[in-house]
Amino acid sequence: MTSTQTTVTPVLSTSAVPPVITLVRGAQAHRAAVDRLLASYRAIPAGQRVRLAKRTSNLFRARAEGTTTGLDVSGLDGVISIDTAARTADVQAMCTYESLVAATLPYGLMPLVVPQLKTITLGGAVTGLGIESSSFRNGLPHESVLELDILTGDGNLVTARPTGDHADLFRGFPNSYGTLGYATRLRIELEPVRPAVALRHVRFSDLDELAAAIGTISTAREWEGTGVDFLDGVVFSASEAYLTLGAWTDDLSDLSDYTGQETFYRSIQQRSTDKLTIHDYLWRWDTDWFWCSAAFGAQNPKVRKYWPARFRRSDVFHRLVGVEMKYGVVAKVDQWRGKPGRERVIQDVELPVTRTADFLRWYLDNVPMTPLWLCPLRLRESGPAGTPEAGSQPWSLYPLKAGQTYVNAGFWGTVAIEPGQAEGDKNREIEAAVADFDGHKSLYSDAYYDEETFWAAYGGQNYPALKQRYDGDGRLLDLYAKAVGRR
Ligand SMILES: Cc1cc2nc3c(=O)[nH]c(=O)nc-3n(C[C@H](O)[C@H](O)[C@H](O)COP(=O)(O)OP(=O)(O)OC[C@H]3O[C@@H](n4cnc5c(N)ncnc54)[C@H](O)[C@@H]3O)c2cc1C
Repeated sequence: MTSTQTTVTPVLSTSAVPPVITLVRGAQAHRAAVDRLLASYRAIPAGQRVRLAKRTSNLFRARAEGTTTGLDVSGLDGVISIDTAARTADVQAMCTYESLVAATLPYGLMPLVVPQLKTITLGGAVTGLGIESSSFRNGLPHESVLELDILTGDGNLVTARPTGDHADLFRGFPNSYGTLGYATRLRIELEPVRPAVALRHVRFSDLDELAAAIGTISTAREWEGTGVDFLDGVVFSASEAYLTLGAWTDDLSDLSDYTGQETFYRSIQQRSTDKLTIHDYLWRWDTDWFWCSAAFGAQNPKVRKYWPARFRRSDVFHRLVGVEMKYGVVAKVDQWRGKPGRERVIQDVELPVTRTADFLRWYLDNVPMTPLWLCPLRLRESGPAGTPEAGSQPWSLYPLKAGQTYVNAGFWGTVAIEPGQAEGDKNREIEAAVADFDGHKSLYSDAYYDEETFWAAYGGQNYPALKQRYDGDGRLLDLYAKAVGRR
């Protein structure tokens, strides 16, 4: 939390909610930050490319450093105000979910979808598509945006809403990855929380049964007579997969804490029920970056004991990966030991629930790096952008259809490069398989599509008009160049 934000004591009870608008950072501080941003845009010579100068990132694509001038986003990382009566918040776009949740939870409220990694920003999650275990009922983060201010590529500050002059930008901003403009402020819906989440870890030894259960729970919102408010899962092997069903509870007895010596993902295999405070539930995956902290030895009890808890966070692990990507120390040691080279496979893909078991079988036969994270999602039945017609694709740059259940499968790590194969081949194979199973990929990581295939999947019929209207001089990269051209 920055110095201009107020410090508040957690309340976590809707009965204790204070009335109406609470100023956190305040509109004046926000205006001053936007003025700095606009001044920095104007200081960039015409014709030169523009990019964000942002401290944190969750991207895995390498960025082309030093080729463009960064926009000054200082002071754009806080919550402006919270309206507890309307259950909305005005939030600066570079505000991390960690800061956002810290500001809303004391009022018994949270964003409708809170991505698992603390340093993901609201702007990043809306333009780059976040997801979490509430996505089967609340859709994706952009579906709870009421309006957003955007500094467009051509230097105008516009407010985009579901209707009106910039409705095209409102619909095209999700999955545009900052290629049409940068959000500066978003007004979002919030939902009431209860103090804790009770978990049931349900084991499946058959992938078809697993996928069928996801389909059922995603629409019925209950399982064996008990309501389900949160749903995600982990696949350890074809015969060992779990769905974790979360339900709100006021019961604060017997709480678990996975910020210490235990890891959350192992607990899924070890116990069938559990309970976490809502705060700890929201960040359950951040402490060990799902399970990826193992690569740094952070799950070895002897190492973990001495690894300071404040450094067991996804952004610390992400930075360690960044160092390896830059210097390739592990790769050099492997080469020296005669081990095969390794390819980075970091992908989140979305399959229709009806094709999920087939994809998982293909993956486990052909990749087969485990565990995998599963998270179902459905576009919201009704939200700020209205009620989409079943089968329609309401967000112009991302291929999700209303009324359809999808399953996000996330897998993050490295695989050995087999003899005769080259780096990138496994990612290409996965990309092709995902398409064969009627799925698509998130674009935050490596992508290899040819231009025609890419635009057929990601809104090629809508993008040129948006680009022309909001970034006619091409001050920002084009989406294909950014997502596939490794920038
Ligand atoms: C290993 C891994 C796992 C992931 N797992 C999850 C997950 O489980 N759940 C989940 O929700 N998401 C996940 N993501 C995806 C993540 O939500 C997106 O990559 C998101 O865009 C990251 O947001 P950020 O704020 O860190 O943005 P950055 O990484 O800084 O930027 C991402 C892109 O968004 C653009 N951008 C950033 N801010 C703005 C803005 N204000 N306006 C316009 N464009 C902007 C940048 O230019 C860039 O192209 C994962 C990513 C990785 C790498």
